[in-house]
Amino acid sequence: MSEQKQVLGVYGAAPSHCVGDGFPVRTLFPSHGVTDLSPFLLLDYAGPARFEPSNKPRGVEEHPHRGFETVTICYQGSVDHRDSGGNSGTVSPGDVQWMTAASGVVHEEKHGKDFTAKGGDFEMVQLWVNLPAAYKMSKPRYQGILSANIPRVNLGTGAYARVIAGELNGVKGPSKTFTPVNVFDVRLEAGSTGKLSLPVGHNSVIVLLRGEVVVNGNSTLKGTAQVAPLSTSGEAVVLEAKEQSLVLVLSGEPINEPVASYGPFVMNTEAELRQAAEDYRAGKMGHV
Ligand code: MN
Repeated sequence: MSEQKQVLGVYGAAPSHCVGDGFPVRTLFPSHGVTDLSPFLLLDYAGPARFEPSNKPRGVEEHPHRGFETVTICYQGSVDHRDSGGNSGTVSPGDVQWMTAASGVVHEEKHGKDFTAKGGDFEMVQLWVNLPAAYKMSKPRYQGILSANIPRVNLGTGAYARVIAGELNGVKGPSKTFTPVNVFDVRLEAGSTGKLSLPVGHNSVIVLLRGEVVVNGNSTLKGTAQVAPLSTSGEAVVLEAKEQSLVLVLSGEPINEPVASYGPFVMNTEAELRQAAEDYRAGKMGHV
């Protein structure tokens, strides 16, 4: 049995705010004591929230990103996406959209047409993953990853992980990444125990979206939107579910470079941030 990772603390989310008119989100990090999780920059949990039927899709109008990647994981509802690179698509439950903004993407994110018309429960996660300096100005890339292409790994009776990115027990996820990153969508039945291992040296975090889990025998995450960063030392993680639980497990090799960020731009220096704003205003990132 390998050494367990230590739980460094358990934190709740910041109060809810609305992104555009369609995404009632709670920011799990950066928030409170959870700030340095390189390469992960931000995690927003949208919903769960109920939307009534409507004839106008809610969401976020056209806006830019530069210098990092946005990863959208859909649990309930759907999101329609269009961007300046000519990419478009619908992210449905189980699907993941991995968008590399790199040198610059302008996009809009709206509730899906069918979801808008019918209404229902909406639940998404958006994760921001930093890029190393060498790739911040590279060509944008779009990966629309369908649920059917995300492999499952059994973690114990009643517990499994969907490997969105990285590798778990020799099973590789479909997402291409620029640095070593693991993103696992973990589902646990009440009373089940899930065991997995994460690399030594990675920054890692257990995110409880909803349910109740005990991490490594001593730290309880309960309710919704709780986050537990883990030590870089050790490998083993044991999740005991007291209730049916939805958990996101993230780990990544830290990018040891300066971070300068302003709104939708994440670069290495203030000068690069000013350049990003200027390039966006000048239309150099294109339009939807
Ligand atoms: Mn966006």
